[in-house]
Amino acid sequence: MEERGSPDGDPAWNLEQGPEGPETPIQVVLRVRPMSAAELRRGEQSALHCSGTRTLQVSPPGGGPDVAFRFGAVLDGASTQDDVFRACGVRRLGELALRGFSCTVFTFGQTGSGKTYTLTGPPPQGEGVPVPPSLAGIMQRTFAWLLDRVQQLDVPVTLRASYLEVYNEQIRDLLSLGAPRPLPVRWNKTRGFYVEQLRVVEFGSLGALMELLQMGLSRRRSSAHTLNQASSRSHALLTLYISHQTPLPSPHGALILQPQQMPPVDPGEPPAGGKLCFVDLAGSEKVAATGSRGELMLEANSINRSLLALGHCISLLLDPQRKQSHIPFRDSKLTKLLADSLGGHGVTLMVACVSPSAQCLPETLSTLRYASRAQRVTTRPQAPRSPKAKPPQHLEAESLQLQEENLHLRSQLGQMDPKASGLSGARVAWAQRNLYGMLQEFMLENERLRKEKKHLQSSRDLAYSEQRILARQVRELERRLLSACCFQQPGPGPAPPCPCVMVPPLLCHVFGSKAPGNGPLSARPPPWAPPCCPSSAKCSRERSHSEWTQTQVLAEMLTEEKVMPSAPPLPTGPLNASPVLRGGAAVPNLARRLEALRDQIGTSLRRGRSQPPPR
Ligand code: ADP
Ligand code: MG
Repeated sequence: MEERGSPDGDPAWNLEQGPEGPETPIQVVLRVRPMSAAELRRGEQSALHCSGTRTLQVSPPGGGPDVAFRFGAVLDGASTQDDVFRACGVRRLGELALRGFSCTVFTFGQTGSGKTYTLTGPPPQGEGVPVPPSLAGIMQRTFAWLLDRVQQLDVPVTLRASYLEVYNEQIRDLLSLGAPRPLPVRWNKTRGFYVEQLRVVEFGSLGALMELLQMGLSRRRSSAHTLNQASSRSHALLTLYISHQTPLPSPHGALILQPQQMPPVDPGEPPAGGKLCFVDLAGSEKVAATGSRGELMLEANSINRSLLALGHCISLLLDPQRKQSHIPFRDSKLTKLLADSLGGHGVTLMVACVSPSAQCLPETLSTLRYASRAQRVTTRPQAPRSPKAKPPQHLEAESLQLQEENLHLRSQLGQMDPKASGLSGARVAWAQRNLYGMLQEFMLENERLRKEKKHLQSSRDLAYSEQRILARQVRELERRLLSACCFQQPGPGPAPPCPCVMVPPLLCHVFGSKAPGNGPLSARPPPWAPPCCPSSAKCSRERSHSEWTQTQVLAEMLTEEKVMPSAPPLPTGPLNASPVLRGGAAVPNLARRLEALRDQIGTSLRRGRSQPPPR
């Protein structure tokens, strides 16, 4: 048979191109299984026929117009397992995995359509009986090809494997040493979604890998129902981890690849490097058609739910606005595990499987539509970064903070119930887009306010330090004033100025702008000031106090007043409250009083010098 859509023959599969383009579409190939003996016995007709190597024609049984679907490759019922392996492009994914990319192959389709057969061959005919080589599926063939390829490389490559199944929304380790127990799925920013405590086994030969595969297949849940005697009741994921120390050339030697610096592997953590994951999905089923009851029905419901979640994610990924919309990968374990393959940095191949029988046409059409849509989903493949390329710590912290903020905003958006506001689907989408716009604006505004706050904080700190310097100067002047007063004697000479005159006018405002007697307060002494007459020249000698007392009063005034920070809380009192009570004016006020104090000290010192020394 001709090699259809092969990696070598088709420019679309050219390995030289690699997946480095910013957006790489999911590759989809279609496999049509042959009519089964039972279907032929029941006299069922085929509704499908292939035209060329890429197009499938669907003829509705009622005689309506044919519908055509186009895929990367279409393989009809006559195709052998080897044809499928060569045509589907899995070797391209193997090459990319060797170069450090994360690649996924998954089969998709109705139950009984041949998904498990395509990946691993027919069900085991007996305990420990291996699949005949001619019927081996994509997985066994890829294993053999990969190990052969690794041997051709003259660099040491470490190969490891894990195998798990998602059964009834629980993850079970198919390679666990004891009985499988449910394992949690976790998320972190470097690894994305991952299964905690999953056993990852190192292997060195094809035989060892085949044993791991057999072990997993034998432990996987399967049951018999009307449409399939060995129906898989779980989604199974076998992952190969490939790590090596040195750059690998491309198959044609043309590409010089980035060296991969492999970090030491933490126990229980899969190694960094390339990945090739094979996903055998459980098939969607109509419970009425399969005749599932009891546990089988519960399983079917769980399978359908997770496939529905998968379909929902694919639909959203097709949305041109998807960069702004939230993809609900968290809705099921399956979508969590496939998140990177579908919407992230992986390279993905989907093998859609269908039955040719006209009886299955509704499910077949649904699979075909689903697969055609999946072809338009793109990923942004990226080889894993070397640890040297790690972003600086402060950037990492900032990105973490932004991610948290993003998550918070998204959850707030998610809480808005569209039904409650009675919006239709299109309007909801429109509203969500606009809400995203608003959110972006809010985030910008938030950023601006953060900067402003930082600026205000720095000016407040500056004012605090100015205030500390001034206070220190005041204390120093007080000290000098007191020591000057100690050497002074009361005697003849001009009376000292009245304290209330020495107080700068602003200070007087602290006590209100108007005095009880309607006169300006700055002309009256404060209640605690020594009594004096309005005119200092007329103050009597008996009523006047020593300069020491006056300076003491002045010093008390200076030290007792509280200075507010320059970024004050909003005023709670009346709007016309004294400006001094607002912190912003405090520092200039202090400076003015300092000036007054200096004058006072100067006067005292001059007077001290002109008087005779004390007896
Ligand atoms: P699924 O995994 O999609 O539920 P299976 O792979 O279990 O379906 O296939 C259902 C049945 O059809 C199995 O008995 C399988 O051997 C058979 N079958 C599927 N595809 C083919 C094929 N291409 N050639 C021959 N038999 C097939
Ligand atoms: Mg199956």
